Amino acid sequence: MTQKADVVVIGGGPGGYEAAIRAAQLGLSVICIERRMHKGKPALGGTCLNVGCIPSKALLDSSHKYHEVKSNYAAHGIVVGEVGLDVAAMQARKDKVVDGLTSGVAALLKGNNITWLQGSGRLLSGKQVEFTPHEGEKQILEAESVILASGSEPVQIPVAPLHDGVVVDSTGALEFDQVPKRLGVIGAGVIGLELGSVWSRLGSEVVVLEAVDNMLPMADKAIAKEAQKILTRQGLDIRLGARVSGTKVAKGKVTVTYTDAKGDHEEVFDRLIVAVGRRPVTDGLLSPDSGVSLDERGFVHVDDQCHASVPGVYAIGDLVRGPMLAHKAMEEGVMAAEVIAGHHAQVNYDLIISVIYTHPEAAWVGKTEEQAKAEGVDVKVGQFAFAVNGRALASDDTAGFVKFVADAKTDRVLGMHVIGPAAGDIIHQGLIAMEFGATIEDLQLMCFAHPTLSEVVHEAALAADGRAIHAIQRKRK
Ligand code: FAD
Ligand code: AMP
Repeated sequence: MTQKADVVVIGGGPGGYEAAIRAAQLGLSVICIERRMHKGKPALGGTCLNVGCIPSKALLDSSHKYHEVKSNYAAHGIVVGEVGLDVAAMQARKDKVVDGLTSGVAALLKGNNITWLQGSGRLLSGKQVEFTPHEGEKQILEAESVILASGSEPVQIPVAPLHDGVVVDSTGALEFDQVPKRLGVIGAGVIGLELGSVWSRLGSEVVVLEAVDNMLPMADKAIAKEAQKILTRQGLDIRLGARVSGTKVAKGKVTVTYTDAKGDHEEVFDRLIVAVGRRPVTDGLLSPDSGVSLDERGFVHVDDQCHASVPGVYAIGDLVRGPMLAHKAMEEGVMAAEVIAGHHAQVNYDLIISVIYTHPEAAWVGKTEEQAKAEGVDVKVGQFAFAVNGRALASDDTAGFVKFVADAKTDRVLGMHVIGPAAGDIIHQGLIAMEFGATIEDLQLMCFAHPTLSEVVHEAALAADGRAIHAIQRKRK
């Protein structure tokens, strides 16, 4: 029997499930195909909810609490006895958070009358989709529109093949049942730094091997430099310019060889995390006559509104160009649904926030100082540290700063860069300011509550004109 729907979505990650919900809200009939099995159960929510954003943040928060109790409570006059660690309980809490959210998504689909088909989808020609259930017969679905949202998976490198819980990807690194004594991480990207931080806080000796010479090349240089300084101070041994050339597993340990400017080196680790990037999932997604074309890097080729090369077919999220971020996937999902329903919709790709959930967090939106200068903008910069902020001092969380990049001629805010407490939340002030075309002066004229971390945002805007109050600035204006 052929099932028909206005919209068939392949993939139930953040991109796919938000697309499905928005399409249903707009009165369209929707089928969402998702094949993921998580811990033996069919699961919606994709990488993000099952093996990405959420479990990593659950472990980041647990490990932060552990580290705080162990290292920083005494300064607050809180005396605790010996602090213990129950990794199994920590993992169980993480699993419960994941479970709650993924079943919440299932309830949302059900509540919106969206049919969730459990199994794999494959786009054929003529907007037909072949559905292969986990058990049972294949079916053909017919759709007015198809949204491809199959996401991404970890890149594997031949020099470090995965090995039975010893050499793992990010998914395996979320499942360690004990704290590795020595932990190697290949790749100082966002995922490598976050997962390295988790296990370092819990007691691992962590060495991060990064092939290129500069860490976080996409970040403003000031943020990247500060992040490296802070994370190194926290105990992460970050080795830049260190390219891994081989790994060998024996007796439950892994020997890693790498090359840097000084020559070849060898390190032995109890566990190794391979965090060298992610690639789009297109295997089995498209039949040869689907007509959907890929770009040179293997992403589905789309325009600004996520139209693929076949009319009526859309592709969103990690499967297409742009940063691999859940919120970017979600916005694209909503946009695709709205475009299908005949609405005008767009995503502002210039203002996609990036966050690294280390402690402190680092976050940015808009242009870096280097980008703005390279574009020939006459740049003015305002920067202010958390070190003298009353709230940061009160909570003993004073590392980092807020930095604004603005156009000196028009005063327009072009970028905001934060490293410091709650950076991932504070950054939304920059997002809203820039979406509304704010100038530095607009931010200067606002009355920020005291004592808050956000006062650093105000001071950074004032500093752009040499008039921050809690710093000696000599400009008269
Ligand atoms: P996915 O979430 O990958 O979902 C795609 C789904 O499609 C998958 O569940 C897959 O099973 C399914 N699928 C694939 N092919 C088929 C098929 N043929 N048929 C049926 N189903 C199919 N992003 C952030 O914004 N913030 C973070 O803090 C963050 N942390 C992360 C931490 C880690 C450790 C990792 C790995 C990623 C993190 N990300 C984070 C990235 C984020 O998870 C992704 O950007 C996001 O999940 C992409 O959403 P998506 O819907 O495009 O794809
Ligand atoms: P990201 O793509 O942001 O997740 O970061 C992945 C990082 O892994 C990049 O900075 C790469 O330079 C790094 N990387 C890739 N291959 C290797 C390798 N063989 N040895 C060390 N680092 C690597």
